[in-house]
Amino acid sequence: MSVDSAPAASPADPAPAEAGKDFIRDIIQGDLDAGVHQSVVTRFPPEPNGYLHIGHAKSICLNFGVAQEFGGRCHLRFDDTNPAKEAQEYIDAIERDVRWLGFDWGTHLHHASDYFEQLYAWAEHLIGAGKAYIDDQSADDMRASRGTLTEPGKNSPFRDRSVDENLDLFRRMRKGEFANGTRVLRAKIDMTSGNINLRDPVLYRIIHTPHPRTGTAWCIYPNYDFAHGQSDAIEHITHSICTLEFEDHKPLYEWFLENLPVPSKPKQYEFARLNISYTILSKRHLTQFVREGHVTGWDDPRMPTIAGIRRRGVPAAALRDFIKRVGVARANSVVDAAMFDACVRELLNKTAARYMAVLRPLKVVIENYPEGQVEDLDAVNNPEDPSAGSRKVPFSRELYVEQDDFMETPPKKFFRLSPGKEVRLRYAYFITCREAVKDAAGNVIELRCTYDPASRGGNSPDGRKVQATLHWVSAGHAIPSEVRIYNPLFTRPDPGADGDVVADINPQSLEIIADAKLEPALSAARIGEAVQFERLGYFTKDAESTDAHAVFNRTVGLRDSYAKAK
Ligand code: ATP
Ligand code: MG
Repeated sequence: MSVDSAPAASPADPAPAEAGKDFIRDIIQGDLDAGVHQSVVTRFPPEPNGYLHIGHAKSICLNFGVAQEFGGRCHLRFDDTNPAKEAQEYIDAIERDVRWLGFDWGTHLHHASDYFEQLYAWAEHLIGAGKAYIDDQSADDMRASRGTLTEPGKNSPFRDRSVDENLDLFRRMRKGEFANGTRVLRAKIDMTSGNINLRDPVLYRIIHTPHPRTGTAWCIYPNYDFAHGQSDAIEHITHSICTLEFEDHKPLYEWFLENLPVPSKPKQYEFARLNISYTILSKRHLTQFVREGHVTGWDDPRMPTIAGIRRRGVPAAALRDFIKRVGVARANSVVDAAMFDACVRELLNKTAARYMAVLRPLKVVIENYPEGQVEDLDAVNNPEDPSAGSRKVPFSRELYVEQDDFMETPPKKFFRLSPGKEVRLRYAYFITCREAVKDAAGNVIELRCTYDPASRGGNSPDGRKVQATLHWVSAGHAIPSEVRIYNPLFTRPDPGADGDVVADINPQSLEIIADAKLEPALSAARIGEAVQFERLGYFTKDAESTDAHAVFNRTVGLRDSYAKAK
Protein backbone atom coordinates (compact mmCIF):
# COMPACT_ATOMS: atom_id res chain seq x y z
CA MET A 1 0.00 0.00 0.00
CA SER A 2 2.23 2.82 -1.14
CA VAL A 3 -0.13 5.21 -2.87
CA ASP A 4 -2.61 6.96 -0.63
CA SER A 5 -4.93 7.93 -3.40
CA ALA A 6 -5.20 4.34 -4.59
CA PRO A 7 -8.82 3.26 -4.47
CA ALA A 8 -9.77 0.61 -1.98
CA ALA A 9 -9.91 -2.87 -3.44
CA SER A 10 -13.34 -3.39 -4.91
CA PRO A 11 -15.42 -6.42 -3.97
CA ALA A 12 -14.67 -7.81 -7.44
CA ASP A 13 -10.99 -7.74 -6.58
CA PRO A 14 -10.81 -8.66 -2.92
CA ALA A 15 -7.59 -8.65 -0.98
CA PRO A 16 -6.71 -12.13 0.29
CA ALA A 17 -8.85 -13.00 3.29
CA GLU A 18 -6.75 -13.15 6.40
CA ALA A 19 -8.61 -15.86 8.26
CA GLY A 20 -6.69 -17.01 11.28
CA LYS A 21 -5.49 -13.49 11.82
CA ASP A 22 -7.98 -12.57 14.52
CA PHE A 23 -11.18 -13.87 16.09
CA ILE A 24 -13.49 -11.61 14.05
CA ARG A 25 -12.07 -12.88 10.77
CA ASP A 26 -12.30 -16.44 12.07
CA ILE A 27 -16.00 -15.97 12.90
CA ILE A 28 -16.72 -14.52 9.47
CA GLN A 29 -14.80 -17.26 7.69
CA GLY A 30 -16.69 -19.84 9.76
CA ASP A 31 -20.07 -18.29 8.89
CA LEU A 32 -19.22 -18.22 5.20
CA ASP A 33 -17.93 -21.80 5.23
CA ALA A 34 -21.03 -23.00 7.08
CA GLY A 35 -23.34 -21.16 4.70
CA VAL A 36 -24.81 -19.00 7.48
CA HIS A 37 -24.20 -16.06 5.14
CA GLN A 38 -23.48 -15.90 1.43
CA SER A 39 -21.49 -12.71 1.82
CA VAL A 40 -20.43 -10.38 4.57
CA VAL A 41 -22.00 -6.97 5.19
CA THR A 42 -20.50 -4.70 7.84
CA ARG A 43 -20.89 -1.04 8.74
CA PHE A 44 -18.97 1.75 10.38
CA PRO A 45 -21.48 3.71 12.50
CA PRO A 46 -20.07 7.05 13.72
CA GLU A 47 -22.14 9.58 15.56
CA PRO A 48 -21.48 12.94 13.85
CA ASN A 49 -20.81 14.76 17.10
CA GLY A 50 -17.08 15.30 16.58
CA TYR A 51 -14.19 14.39 14.33
CA LEU A 52 -12.89 10.85 13.95
CA HIS A 53 -9.81 9.84 15.89
CA ILE A 54 -7.23 7.08 15.61
CA GLY A 55 -9.48 4.78 17.64
CA HIS A 56 -12.17 5.13 15.00
CA ALA A 57 -9.51 4.30 12.41
CA LYS A 58 -9.22 0.88 14.05
CA SER A 59 -12.94 0.32 13.66
CA ILE A 60 -12.90 1.63 10.08
CA CYS A 61 -9.97 -0.56 9.07
CA LEU A 62 -11.65 -3.56 10.66
CA ASN A 63 -15.13 -3.07 9.23
CA PHE A 64 -14.06 -1.98 5.75
CA GLY A 65 -11.08 -4.33 5.85
CA VAL A 66 -13.04 -7.54 6.43
CA ALA A 67 -15.61 -6.49 3.82
CA GLN A 68 -12.82 -6.09 1.26
CA GLU A 69 -11.02 -9.26 2.22
CA PHE A 70 -14.12 -11.44 2.13
CA GLY A 71 -15.59 -9.84 -0.98
CA GLY A 72 -18.49 -8.23 0.85
CA ARG A 73 -19.38 -4.63 1.50
CA CYS A 74 -19.21 -2.09 4.27
CA HIS A 75 -21.70 0.71 4.83
CA LEU A 76 -20.96 4.11 6.24
CA ARG A 77 -23.88 4.83 8.52
CA PHE A 78 -24.26 7.96 10.54
CA ASP A 79 -25.78 7.29 13.92
CA ASP A 80 -27.44 10.70 13.83
CA THR A 81 -30.01 10.40 16.59
CA ASN A 82 -29.15 13.41 18.73
CA PRO A 83 -29.49 16.73 16.87
CA ALA A 84 -28.49 18.63 20.00
CA LYS A 85 -24.91 17.41 19.58
CA GLU A 86 -24.55 16.74 15.87
CA ALA A 87 -23.60 18.99 12.97
CA GLN A 88 -23.03 19.01 9.23
CA GLU A 89 -19.39 19.98 9.79
CA TYR A 90 -18.85 16.64 11.51
CA ILE A 91 -20.70 14.70 8.82
CA ASP A 92 -18.47 16.24 6.14
CA ALA A 93 -15.30 15.68 8.15
CA ILE A 94 -16.14 12.02 8.78
CA GLU A 95 -16.75 11.31 5.08
CA ARG A 96 -13.50 13.07 4.16
CA ASP A 97 -11.52 11.14 6.76
CA VAL A 98 -12.88 7.70 5.87
CA ARG A 99 -12.11 8.37 2.20
CA TRP A 100 -8.64 9.61 3.04
CA LEU A 101 -7.98 6.41 4.98
CA GLY A 102 -8.55 4.65 1.68
CA PHE A 103 -12.04 3.22 2.05
CA ASP A 104 -15.11 3.48 -0.11
CA TRP A 105 -18.70 2.83 0.88
CA GLY A 106 -19.88 2.95 -2.73
CA THR A 107 -23.62 3.61 -2.78
CA HIS A 108 -23.98 2.57 0.86
CA LEU A 109 -24.07 5.90 2.63
CA HIS A 110 -26.80 5.59 5.22
CA HIS A 111 -28.15 7.46 8.22
CA ALA A 112 -30.13 6.32 11.19
CA SER A 113 -32.29 9.34 10.34
CA ASP A 114 -33.21 7.64 7.02
CA TYR A 115 -35.09 5.17 9.19
CA PHE A 116 -36.89 7.54 11.56
CA GLU A 117 -40.31 6.71 10.09
CA GLN A 118 -39.68 2.98 10.31
CA LEU A 119 -38.27 3.24 13.83
CA TYR A 120 -41.31 5.24 14.87
CA ALA A 121 -43.60 2.58 13.47
CA TRP A 122 -41.67 -0.08 15.40
CA ALA A 123 -42.02 1.96 18.57
CA GLU A 124 -45.79 1.98 18.07
CA HIS A 125 -45.56 -1.76 17.44
CA LEU A 126 -43.94 -2.27 20.85
CA ILE A 127 -46.55 -0.05 22.50
CA GLY A 128 -49.30 -2.04 20.81
CA ALA A 129 -47.78 -5.26 22.13
CA GLY A 130 -47.69 -3.85 25.66
CA LYS A 131 -43.89 -3.74 25.57
CA ALA A 132 -43.33 -0.01 25.79
CA TYR A 133 -44.86 2.85 27.76
CA ILE A 134 -44.69 6.59 28.19
CA ASP A 135 -43.02 7.63 31.41
CA ASP A 136 -43.67 11.08 32.87
CA GLN A 137 -41.06 10.81 35.60
CA SER A 138 -38.36 13.44 35.71
CA ALA A 139 -34.86 12.40 34.66
CA ASP A 140 -33.82 12.51 38.32
CA ASP A 141 -36.66 10.25 39.42
CA MET A 142 -35.90 7.82 36.65
CA ARG A 143 -32.28 7.72 37.68
CA ALA A 144 -33.20 7.21 41.33
CA SER A 145 -35.55 4.33 40.56
CA ARG A 146 -33.17 2.55 38.20
CA GLY A 147 -31.31 0.85 41.04
CA THR A 148 -27.63 -0.01 41.05
CA LEU A 149 -25.40 -2.91 40.11
CA THR A 150 -26.30 -4.55 43.42
CA GLU A 151 -29.86 -3.30 43.90
CA PRO A 152 -32.82 -3.89 41.61
CA GLY A 153 -34.71 -0.93 40.19
CA LYS A 154 -38.31 0.05 40.98
CA ASN A 155 -41.19 0.12 38.58
CA SER A 156 -42.28 3.53 37.37
CA PRO A 157 -45.71 4.65 38.56
CA PHE A 158 -46.54 5.13 34.86
CA ARG A 159 -45.55 1.61 33.85
CA ASP A 160 -49.08 0.22 33.70
CA ARG A 161 -50.66 2.80 31.46
CA SER A 162 -53.03 1.33 28.90
CA VAL A 163 -51.95 0.74 25.33
CA ASP A 164 -54.40 3.39 24.17
CA GLU A 165 -53.11 6.02 26.56
CA ASN A 166 -49.52 5.21 25.63
CA LEU A 167 -50.29 5.43 21.91
CA ASP A 168 -52.11 8.69 22.36
CA LEU A 169 -49.29 10.23 24.38
CA PHE A 170 -46.62 8.96 21.98
CA ARG A 171 -48.45 10.45 19.00
CA ARG A 172 -48.81 13.74 20.82
CA MET A 173 -45.10 13.65 21.69
CA ARG A 174 -44.43 13.36 17.98
CA LYS A 175 -46.76 16.25 17.22
CA GLY A 176 -44.74 18.48 19.52
CA GLU A 177 -47.28 18.99 22.27
CA PHE A 178 -44.76 18.47 25.09
CA ALA A 179 -41.60 20.21 26.17
CA ASN A 180 -38.12 18.67 26.25
CA GLY A 181 -37.65 16.27 29.13
CA THR A 182 -41.30 16.02 30.14
CA ARG A 183 -41.88 12.48 28.89
CA VAL A 184 -40.00 9.57 27.35
CA LEU A 185 -40.92 6.30 25.74
CA ARG A 186 -39.47 3.34 27.59
CA ALA A 187 -39.34 -0.35 26.82
CA LYS A 188 -41.18 -2.49 29.36
CA ILE A 189 -38.67 -5.22 30.10
CA ASP A 190 -37.57 -5.88 33.68
CA MET A 191 -36.67 -3.35 36.36
CA THR A 192 -35.02 -6.12 38.38
CA SER A 193 -32.76 -7.39 35.62
CA GLY A 194 -29.13 -7.90 36.54
CA ASN A 195 -28.31 -6.01 33.35
CA ILE A 196 -29.14 -2.35 33.90
CA ASN A 197 -29.61 -1.86 30.16
CA LEU A 198 -32.71 -4.07 30.42
CA ARG A 199 -34.32 -2.01 33.21
CA ASP A 200 -36.93 -0.38 31.01
CA PRO A 201 -34.45 1.52 28.80
CA VAL A 202 -35.47 4.83 27.24
CA LEU A 203 -36.29 4.49 23.54
CA TYR A 204 -37.41 8.00 22.59
CA ARG A 205 -36.85 11.43 24.07
CA ILE A 206 -38.24 14.84 23.19
CA ILE A 207 -35.65 17.17 21.64
CA HIS A 208 -37.00 20.33 20.04
CA THR A 209 -33.89 20.96 17.98
CA PRO A 210 -33.66 20.96 14.19
CA HIS A 211 -31.77 17.97 12.81
CA PRO A 212 -29.01 18.39 10.18
CA ARG A 213 -30.89 16.06 7.83
CA THR A 214 -34.52 15.94 8.85
CA GLY A 215 -34.82 19.58 9.83
CA THR A 216 -37.91 20.18 11.95
CA ALA A 217 -39.78 17.07 10.79
CA TRP A 218 -39.21 15.44 14.17
CA CYS A 219 -39.07 16.59 17.76
CA ILE A 220 -38.74 13.09 19.22
CA TYR A 221 -35.62 11.07 18.57
CA PRO A 222 -34.76 7.41 19.12
CA ASN A 223 -31.72 6.85 21.28
CA TYR A 224 -28.68 4.85 20.28
CA ASP A 225 -29.98 1.47 21.45
CA PHE A 226 -33.32 1.76 19.71
CA ALA A 227 -31.74 2.95 16.45
CA HIS A 228 -28.62 0.91 16.16
CA GLY A 229 -29.63 -2.73 15.94
CA GLN A 230 -32.72 -1.97 13.89
CA SER A 231 -30.62 0.05 11.43
CA ASP A 232 -28.31 -2.97 11.20
CA ALA A 233 -31.34 -5.16 10.52
CA ILE A 234 -32.75 -2.83 7.84
CA GLU A 235 -29.40 -2.82 6.05
CA HIS A 236 -29.00 -6.61 6.35
CA ILE A 237 -25.75 -6.22 8.21
CA THR A 238 -24.38 -9.70 8.87
CA HIS A 239 -21.70 -8.89 11.45
CA SER A 240 -22.24 -5.83 13.62
CA ILE A 241 -18.77 -5.21 14.97
CA CYS A 242 -18.36 -2.79 17.86
CA THR A 243 -16.20 -2.12 20.88
CA LEU A 244 -16.41 -3.96 24.20
CA GLU A 245 -18.37 -1.29 26.05
CA PHE A 246 -21.38 -2.38 24.00
CA GLU A 247 -21.22 -5.93 25.31
CA ASP A 248 -23.69 -5.04 28.06
CA HIS A 249 -26.04 -3.63 25.44
CA LYS A 250 -26.12 -6.85 23.46
CA PRO A 251 -29.08 -8.43 25.32
CA LEU A 252 -31.06 -5.28 24.55
CA TYR A 253 -29.86 -5.28 20.94
CA GLU A 254 -31.18 -8.83 20.68
CA TRP A 255 -34.39 -8.05 22.56
CA PHE A 256 -35.38 -5.52 19.90
CA LEU A 257 -34.56 -7.97 17.10
CA GLU A 258 -36.74 -10.61 18.85
CA ASN A 259 -39.65 -8.31 19.55
CA LEU A 260 -39.88 -6.39 16.29
CA PRO A 261 -40.75 -7.58 12.77
CA VAL A 262 -37.28 -6.78 11.46
CA PRO A 263 -36.15 -7.94 8.01
CA SER A 264 -32.93 -9.59 9.21
CA LYS A 265 -31.17 -10.62 12.41
CA PRO A 266 -27.63 -9.28 12.54
CA LYS A 267 -25.23 -10.49 15.20
CA GLN A 268 -23.13 -8.20 17.34
CA TYR A 269 -19.45 -8.92 18.04
CA GLU A 270 -17.23 -6.89 20.33
CA PHE A 271 -13.50 -6.16 20.19
CA ALA A 272 -11.22 -4.12 22.45
CA ARG A 273 -11.02 -0.42 21.74
CA LEU A 274 -7.70 1.13 20.87
CA ASN A 275 -5.89 2.95 23.65
CA ILE A 276 -2.54 4.65 23.12
CA SER A 277 -0.14 5.98 25.72
CA TYR A 278 0.20 9.79 25.96
CA THR A 279 -3.08 10.01 24.03
CA ILE A 280 -6.72 10.70 24.80
CA LEU A 281 -9.20 8.94 22.52
CA SER A 282 -12.52 10.21 23.69
CA LYS A 283 -14.66 12.59 21.69
CA ARG A 284 -15.93 14.18 24.87
CA HIS A 285 -12.44 15.28 25.86
CA LEU A 286 -11.33 16.13 22.35
CA THR A 287 -14.39 18.37 22.04
CA GLN A 288 -13.40 20.00 25.31
CA PHE A 289 -9.84 20.68 24.08
CA VAL A 290 -11.22 22.38 20.97
CA ARG A 291 -13.92 24.33 22.78
CA GLU A 292 -11.61 25.55 25.54
CA GLY A 293 -8.83 26.44 23.10
CA HIS A 294 -6.17 24.04 24.40
CA VAL A 295 -5.56 23.23 20.74
CA THR A 296 -6.18 25.31 17.62
CA GLY A 297 -8.97 23.08 16.30
CA TRP A 298 -9.97 19.54 15.45
CA ASP A 299 -7.19 19.39 12.88
CA ASP A 300 -4.48 20.70 15.20
CA PRO A 301 -1.55 18.40 14.40
CA ARG A 302 -1.21 17.56 18.10
CA MET A 303 -4.69 16.06 18.11
CA PRO A 304 -5.11 12.28 17.69
CA THR A 305 -7.85 13.00 15.16
CA ILE A 306 -7.51 11.70 11.63
CA ALA A 307 -7.64 15.32 10.45
CA GLY A 308 -4.83 16.29 12.84
CA ILE A 309 -2.71 13.30 11.93
CA ARG A 310 -3.16 14.05 8.23
CA ARG A 311 -2.21 17.68 8.73
CA ARG A 312 0.87 16.61 10.63
CA GLY A 313 1.93 14.81 7.47
CA VAL A 314 1.24 11.18 8.33
CA PRO A 315 0.34 9.18 5.21
CA ALA A 316 -2.85 7.12 5.37
CA ALA A 317 -0.80 4.02 4.61
CA ALA A 318 1.22 4.52 7.81
CA LEU A 319 -1.96 4.78 9.86
CA ARG A 320 -3.34 1.62 8.23
CA ASP A 321 -0.07 -0.16 8.89
CA PHE A 322 -0.21 0.86 12.56
CA ILE A 323 -3.76 -0.44 12.91
CA LYS A 324 -2.76 -3.67 11.25
CA ARG A 325 0.14 -4.17 13.65
CA VAL A 326 -2.08 -3.45 16.66
CA GLY A 327 -4.39 -6.26 15.57
CA VAL A 328 -7.86 -7.11 16.83
CA ALA A 329 -8.48 -8.83 20.15
CA ARG A 330 -10.92 -8.89 23.03
CA ALA A 331 -8.42 -7.98 25.73
CA ASN A 332 -8.07 -4.30 26.54
CA SER A 333 -4.54 -2.94 26.35
CA VAL A 334 -2.60 0.27 25.87
CA VAL A 335 -0.45 0.57 22.77
CA ASP A 336 2.85 2.41 23.07
CA ALA A 337 2.71 5.80 21.33
CA ALA A 338 6.24 5.15 20.09
CA MET A 339 4.86 2.32 17.97
CA PHE A 340 2.75 4.75 15.97
CA ASP A 341 5.73 7.00 15.34
CA ALA A 342 7.78 3.97 14.32
CA CYS A 343 5.21 3.02 11.67
CA VAL A 344 5.25 6.56 10.32
CA ARG A 345 9.04 6.69 10.26
CA GLU A 346 9.34 3.31 8.60
CA LEU A 347 7.06 4.30 5.75
CA LEU A 348 8.45 7.79 5.29
CA ASN A 349 12.00 6.50 5.27
CA LYS A 350 11.11 4.65 2.08
CA THR A 351 8.99 7.32 0.45
CA ALA A 352 9.99 10.82 1.57
CA ALA A 353 12.45 12.86 -0.49
CA ARG A 354 15.38 14.31 1.46
CA TYR A 355 16.12 18.00 1.64
CA MET A 356 18.32 20.23 3.72
CA ALA A 357 16.83 22.72 6.14
CA VAL A 358 18.37 24.55 9.07
CA LEU A 359 16.01 25.11 11.96
CA ARG A 360 18.19 27.33 14.18
CA PRO A 361 20.57 29.04 11.78
CA LEU A 362 24.17 30.02 12.49
CA LYS A 363 25.89 31.95 9.71
CA VAL A 364 29.05 30.45 8.19
CA VAL A 365 31.36 32.48 5.94
CA ILE A 366 33.80 30.46 3.81
CA GLU A 367 36.66 32.94 3.65
CA ASN A 368 38.53 31.35 0.75
CA TYR A 369 35.42 30.79 -1.40
CA PRO A 370 35.10 33.42 -4.18
CA GLU A 371 32.56 36.16 -3.54
CA GLY A 372 29.59 35.98 -5.90
CA GLN A 373 30.32 32.39 -6.99
CA VAL A 374 27.54 29.84 -6.87
CA GLU A 375 27.92 26.13 -7.60
CA ASP A 376 25.01 23.78 -8.16
CA LEU A 377 25.95 20.58 -6.42
CA ASP A 378 24.29 17.19 -6.88
CA ALA A 379 22.23 15.88 -3.99
CA VAL A 380 20.57 12.46 -3.75
CA ASN A 381 16.80 12.67 -3.29
CA ASN A 382 16.31 9.40 -1.46
CA PRO A 383 19.09 6.91 -0.72
CA GLU A 384 16.36 4.30 -0.09
CA ASP A 385 14.89 4.80 -3.55
CA PRO A 386 17.33 5.22 -6.46
CA SER A 387 14.44 5.98 -8.82
CA ALA A 388 13.84 9.22 -6.90
CA GLY A 389 16.90 10.67 -8.68
CA SER A 390 18.86 13.72 -7.67
CA ARG A 391 18.58 17.49 -7.55
CA LYS A 392 20.87 20.51 -7.53
CA VAL A 393 21.64 22.40 -4.34
CA PRO A 394 23.29 25.84 -4.57
CA PHE A 395 26.52 26.37 -2.63
CA SER A 396 28.04 29.78 -1.99
CA ARG A 397 30.39 31.72 0.28
CA GLU A 398 27.75 32.34 2.96
CA LEU A 399 25.82 29.47 4.45
CA TYR A 400 23.76 28.49 7.46
CA VAL A 401 24.37 25.50 9.70
CA GLU A 402 22.55 24.48 12.90
CA GLN A 403 23.56 26.40 16.00
CA ASP A 404 23.95 23.18 17.92
CA ASP A 405 26.37 21.79 15.36
CA PHE A 406 28.94 24.20 16.80
CA MET A 407 30.55 24.27 20.25
CA GLU A 408 33.32 26.63 21.20
CA THR A 409 34.75 24.31 23.83
CA PRO A 410 33.45 20.88 22.93
CA PRO A 411 33.48 17.81 25.16
CA LYS A 412 35.57 14.87 23.99
CA LYS A 413 32.98 13.12 21.84
CA PHE A 414 31.70 16.20 20.04
CA PHE A 415 32.82 15.73 16.45
CA ARG A 416 31.03 18.61 14.82
CA LEU A 417 32.22 22.19 14.38
CA SER A 418 34.53 23.86 16.86
CA PRO A 419 37.57 26.06 16.34
CA GLY A 420 40.18 24.16 14.32
CA LYS A 421 37.86 21.22 13.55
CA GLU A 422 37.23 19.95 10.02
CA VAL A 423 33.82 18.52 9.01
CA ARG A 424 32.04 17.57 5.80
CA LEU A 425 29.18 19.65 4.49
CA ARG A 426 26.82 17.14 2.91
CA TYR A 427 27.18 16.95 -0.91
CA ALA A 428 29.59 19.93 -0.78
CA TYR A 429 33.03 20.29 0.73
CA PHE A 430 35.20 19.71 3.75
CA ILE A 431 35.35 22.91 5.77
CA THR A 432 37.48 23.87 8.76
CA CYS A 433 36.34 26.28 11.43
CA ARG A 434 38.86 29.07 11.94
CA GLU A 435 37.11 31.48 14.24
CA ALA A 436 33.84 32.14 16.07
CA VAL A 437 32.62 35.75 15.86
CA LYS A 438 30.66 36.99 18.88
CA ASP A 439 28.31 39.84 19.58
CA ALA A 440 28.74 42.24 22.50
CA ALA A 441 26.91 39.82 24.79
CA GLY A 442 29.33 37.03 23.95
CA ASN A 443 26.94 34.99 21.77
CA VAL A 444 28.45 33.28 18.76
CA ILE A 445 26.84 34.93 15.73
CA GLU A 446 29.05 33.76 12.88
CA LEU A 447 31.68 31.20 12.05
CA ARG A 448 34.63 32.04 9.82
CA CYS A 449 35.70 28.89 7.97
CA THR A 450 37.83 27.76 5.03
CA TYR A 451 37.06 25.00 2.56
CA ASP A 452 39.19 22.50 0.67
CA PRO A 453 38.41 22.94 -3.04
CA ALA A 454 39.70 19.42 -3.68
CA SER A 455 36.90 17.89 -1.61
CA ARG A 456 34.07 18.82 -4.01
CA GLY A 457 31.02 16.61 -3.56
CA GLY A 458 32.08 15.99 0.01
CA ASN A 459 34.71 13.44 -1.03
CA SER A 460 37.97 13.22 0.82
CA PRO A 461 40.80 14.36 -1.50
CA ASP A 462 43.52 12.31 0.15
CA GLY A 463 41.86 9.69 2.31
CA ARG A 464 41.77 11.90 5.38
CA LYS A 465 38.69 11.42 7.47
CA VAL A 466 36.24 13.73 9.11
CA GLN A 467 33.93 12.51 11.84
CA ALA A 468 30.84 14.55 11.11
CA THR A 469 28.70 15.38 8.11
CA LEU A 470 26.50 18.42 8.54
CA HIS A 471 23.52 19.74 6.65
CA TRP A 472 23.56 23.35 5.52
CA VAL A 473 21.73 25.88 3.37
CA SER A 474 23.18 28.63 1.17
CA ALA A 475 22.29 31.92 2.86
CA GLY A 476 21.55 33.84 -0.31
CA HIS A 477 19.25 31.11 -1.64
CA ALA A 478 17.49 30.03 1.54
CA ILE A 479 13.71 30.18 1.85
CA PRO A 480 12.73 31.54 5.25
CA SER A 481 10.10 29.39 6.88
CA GLU A 482 8.15 28.90 10.03
CA VAL A 483 8.53 25.39 11.38
CA ARG A 484 6.20 23.89 13.96
CA ILE A 485 7.53 21.13 16.15
CA TYR A 486 4.89 19.00 17.84
CA ASN A 487 5.60 17.20 21.06
CA PRO A 488 3.20 14.84 22.85
CA LEU A 489 0.05 16.68 23.94
CA PHE A 490 0.33 15.17 27.42
CA THR A 491 3.09 15.04 29.97
CA ARG A 492 2.28 11.54 31.17
CA PRO A 493 1.53 8.23 29.48
CA ASP A 494 -1.84 7.96 31.26
CA PRO A 495 -3.36 11.45 30.95
CA GLY A 496 -6.28 12.01 33.26
CA ALA A 497 -5.30 9.21 35.64
CA ASP A 498 -5.48 11.69 38.52
CA GLY A 499 -8.89 12.86 37.37
CA ASP A 500 -8.02 15.99 35.40
CA VAL A 501 -7.04 15.52 31.76
CA VAL A 502 -6.53 19.23 31.15
CA ALA A 503 -4.01 19.44 34.00
CA ASP A 504 -1.90 16.87 32.16
CA ILE A 505 -1.66 18.87 28.94
CA ASN A 506 1.97 19.45 27.99
CA PRO A 507 2.69 23.20 27.99
CA GLN A 508 5.55 22.49 25.58
CA SER A 509 3.47 20.52 23.11
CA LEU A 510 3.98 23.14 20.39
CA GLU A 511 7.32 24.75 19.63
CA ILE A 512 7.28 27.40 16.92
CA ILE A 513 10.51 28.16 15.12
CA ALA A 514 9.95 31.46 13.36
CA ASP A 515 12.95 31.73 11.06
CA ALA A 516 14.19 28.41 9.80
CA LYS A 517 16.08 28.34 6.49
CA LEU A 518 15.14 25.87 3.77
CA GLU A 519 16.98 24.85 0.62
CA PRO A 520 15.33 26.43 -2.43
CA ALA A 521 14.01 23.15 -3.89
CA LEU A 522 11.53 23.08 -1.02
CA SER A 523 9.65 25.97 -2.59
CA ALA A 524 8.09 23.34 -4.86
CA ALA A 525 6.90 21.14 -1.97
CA ARG A 526 3.16 20.55 -2.07
CA ILE A 527 0.92 20.93 0.93
CA GLY A 528 0.72 17.58 2.68
CA GLU A 529 3.67 16.08 0.79
CA ALA A 530 6.03 14.26 3.13
CA VAL A 531 9.67 15.33 3.04
CA GLN A 532 12.67 14.57 5.19
CA PHE A 533 14.84 17.39 6.46
CA GLU A 534 18.17 15.61 6.71
CA ARG A 535 19.22 14.78 10.26
CA LEU A 536 16.07 16.43 11.66
CA GLY A 537 13.02 14.40 10.84
CA TYR A 538 10.03 14.24 8.54
CA PHE A 539 8.06 17.35 7.75
CA THR A 540 5.20 18.52 5.60
CA LYS A 541 4.07 21.88 4.30
CA ASP A 542 1.05 23.18 6.17
CA ALA A 543 -2.07 24.49 4.46
CA GLU A 544 -1.57 27.80 6.25
CA SER A 545 1.46 28.46 4.01
CA THR A 546 1.26 31.40 1.60
CA ASP A 547 3.62 32.39 -1.22
CA ALA A 548 5.24 34.86 1.14
CA HIS A 549 5.31 32.69 4.24
CA ALA A 550 6.05 28.98 4.26
CA VAL A 551 4.94 26.89 7.24
CA PHE A 552 6.19 23.35 7.79
CA ASN A 553 4.94 20.86 10.38
CA ARG A 554 7.17 18.24 11.85
CA THR A 555 5.49 14.90 11.31
CA VAL A 556 7.90 12.90 13.43
CA GLY A 557 11.55 13.07 14.43
CA LEU A 558 14.13 10.58 13.20
CA ARG A 559 14.46 8.90 16.58
CA ASP A 560 12.07 7.72 19.27
CA SER A 561 11.37 10.80 21.38
CA TYR A 562 9.37 8.85 23.97
CA ALA A 563 12.42 6.77 24.92
CA LYS A 564 13.99 10.01 26.18
CA ALA A 565 10.87 10.93 28.16
CA LYS A 566 10.81 7.60 30.01
P1 ATP B 1 -15.79 8.25 21.80
O1 ATP B 1 -15.70 7.23 22.90
O2 ATP B 1 -14.48 8.77 21.35
O3 ATP B 1 -16.79 9.32 22.03
P2 ATP B 1 -17.74 6.85 20.36
O4 ATP B 1 -17.74 5.39 20.52
O5 ATP B 1 -18.74 7.58 21.14
O6 ATP B 1 -16.28 7.41 20.58
P3 ATP B 1 -18.88 6.73 17.79
O7 ATP B 1 -18.99 7.77 16.75
O8 ATP B 1 -20.11 6.21 18.41
O9 ATP B 1 -17.91 7.31 18.88
O10 ATP B 1 -17.99 5.53 17.28
C1 ATP B 1 -18.16 4.89 16.04
C2 ATP B 1 -17.53 3.54 16.09
O11 ATP B 1 -16.15 3.67 16.40
C3 ATP B 1 -18.14 2.70 17.18
O12 ATP B 1 -18.46 1.43 16.63
C4 ATP B 1 -17.09 2.58 18.22
O13 ATP B 1 -17.11 1.33 18.83
C5 ATP B 1 -15.80 2.77 17.42
N1 ATP B 1 -14.75 3.33 18.26
C6 ATP B 1 -14.78 4.48 18.98
N2 ATP B 1 -13.66 4.64 19.69
C7 ATP B 1 -12.86 3.57 19.41
C8 ATP B 1 -11.55 3.15 19.83
N3 ATP B 1 -10.82 3.87 20.68
N4 ATP B 1 -11.07 2.00 19.33
C9 ATP B 1 -11.78 1.27 18.45
N5 ATP B 1 -13.02 1.60 18.02
C10 ATP B 1 -13.55 2.74 18.49
MG1 MG C 1 -20.71 6.32 20.74
